[in-house]
Amino acid sequence: MPAFEYDLFVIGGGSGGVRSGRLAASLGKKVAIAEEFRYGGTCVIRGCVPKKLYVYASQYTEHFEDAAGFGWTVGESRFDWQKLVAAKEQEITRLEGLYQKGLANAGAEILRTRAELVGPNTVRLLDTGKTVTAERIVIAVGGHPTPHDALPGHELCISSNEAFDLAELPKSILIAGGGYIAVEFANIFHGLGVETTLIYRGKEILSRFDQDMRRGLHAAMEEKGIRILCEDIIQSVAVDADGKRVAHTMKHGEIAVDQVMLALGRVPNTKGLGLESAGVKTDERGAIIVDAFSRTSAPGIYALGDVTDRVQLTPVAIHEAMCFIQTEYKNNPVSPDHDLIATAVFSQPEIGTVGLSEEQAGHQFEDLEVYRAEFRPMKATLSGRKEKTIMKLIVNAADRKVLGAHILGHDAGEMAQLLGISLKAGCTKDDFDRTMAVHPTASEELVTMYAPSYRVHKGERVN
Ligand code: NDP
Repeated sequence: MPAFEYDLFVIGGGSGGVRSGRLAASLGKKVAIAEEFRYGGTCVIRGCVPKKLYVYASQYTEHFEDAAGFGWTVGESRFDWQKLVAAKEQEITRLEGLYQKGLANAGAEILRTRAELVGPNTVRLLDTGKTVTAERIVIAVGGHPTPHDALPGHELCISSNEAFDLAELPKSILIAGGGYIAVEFANIFHGLGVETTLIYRGKEILSRFDQDMRRGLHAAMEEKGIRILCEDIIQSVAVDADGKRVAHTMKHGEIAVDQVMLALGRVPNTKGLGLESAGVKTDERGAIIVDAFSRTSAPGIYALGDVTDRVQLTPVAIHEAMCFIQTEYKNNPVSPDHDLIATAVFSQPEIGTVGLSEEQAGHQFEDLEVYRAEFRPMKATLSGRKEKTIMKLIVNAADRKVLGAHILGHDAGEMAQLLGISLKAGCTKDDFDRTMAVHPTASEELVTMYAPSYRVHKGERVN
């Protein structure tokens, strides 16, 4: 009789959990995976996928307006929120099915229950109360939006979880936060016709991004009509007689809106998971502490994805899962590589970025060359839309290595993916210069910025 009932037990059916469970099962391992909500996790059910679908939906207002410049007369248009929610639901249900099909085809046992650790190598399934044992356990339970309990009236606010399925599209919304989610949803709601205000505690939105991207996006969002209040916070939220949410802000007085959405970061789902009983240690934010191979402090227990709070991105969780499989089942120890992760903010316009911002590079390298282009995209010439594309390369003057590439403009996310390959390969500015341009595109600018726009010495712009 085997020592354990399973070779691998995975807790959490999101990106990291499903990938590790499916791959292990396809290698002939006896695998079970448990998910308490819906297979697909944050990304498929209430994150990346529905978000991108809503971004597409919200772009039609501008498409219809821009069409006139190209000779089109577009008839009266009307948006139906319930139709969008239903179409989104159909698509994520399809994807949820595909995730389960992949697991089933690989031979994994699919469980629809919450599972908690009860000791080393042991998990309890909450639907039946049954206890099972596994040689290895992967915890991939993700995270959730911080509820911001300290805010009086936080229970009157929504998070991105609820935003996707609101019974009605609000007429007005106040969104707190200046990160990915706040910025993306501000653009979505505005595009769908909602009067939108963003409130952010810092000087400029998107604190971890390059200054040019931050300022450029801020200006573009205000130009569209999104109100942005920086250096301010919501102090409390109440509800008035008409059911409106009334937010009391520190600097901008009372703001009455249909919905207040909090997008103040995400926290790991580690409460009540039985981590202590299995000897799994967490940090002060509740994230599971792991080593370079995703091993927790308890032998045989591993953690992947957002629950470890390393980098909260879907492809990172998937990559960590694949490294786990290589290390544990293919006798090929691979440690996840978290360097030079290309990423996109699906704002309107988008931001696509990889590598160091000018500010970060200025702290790490003595001399930089900065190549910067700001131009009106071709489509805007006929549409008449006031918008700017910004492209920026940060180059180490000493060895000409491109340290960072940043784009604000249409399809910046698509471009960031390809720039990610170039930077990962260690390309220099000379490699960019000898690359032939694709014409007419916006991205040709990336290979035709021959002279530096300015230089930076010890973090200071010098010319
Ligand atoms: P972020 O960490 O991006 O942003 C959180 C925001 O909340 C920041 O602006 C932060 O301010 C602010 N904030 C935090 N605490 C407080 C507070 N107590 N009072 C006021 N403001 C506060 O988190 P998100 O929730 O936007 O997204 C979570 C993660 O999900 C992201 O980090 C990202 O990795 C991932 N994600 C990725 C997407 C993509 O790839 N396109 C899309 C959506 C999410 P400050 O900057 O000053 O700290």
